[in-house]
Amino acid sequence: MARCPICGEALKWEDLMEQMIVLDNFKALLDDKDAFLSTLSEFVFKCPHCEEEFYGKALDMKEASRVFELLNDFKGSIDYERGKVKLKLTNLIALDVMLEEWDKRVGRGK
Ligand SMILES: [Zn+2]
Repeated sequence: MARCPICGEALKWEDLMEQMIVLDNFKALLDDKDAFLSTLSEFVFKCPHCEEEFYGKALDMKEASRVFELLNDFKGSIDYERGKVKLKLTNLIALDVMLEEWDKRVGRGK
């Protein structure tokens, strides 16, 4: 789960992405994973809880790359006009992690 590196509160990936949508080249970034991740690392996010700013590199890059995949899997999940992400990214990632844990527990994936 994404957390604020300053106050430790849980952050929603859909909220973080909404902060990034303002970038002129955001759409183009979704075509290039390396560009997406490096831009995200250098992007200054603002925590909605403590209002402190932090760099994207403080976030979990494994989750960030999953966010990239989800946004590409669900085209149309971003409303550019209103600057909204309609996809519940945080819930989908939580589900991923749960399934991974389940796989480990039942000994699959060996
Ligand atoms: Zn915070």
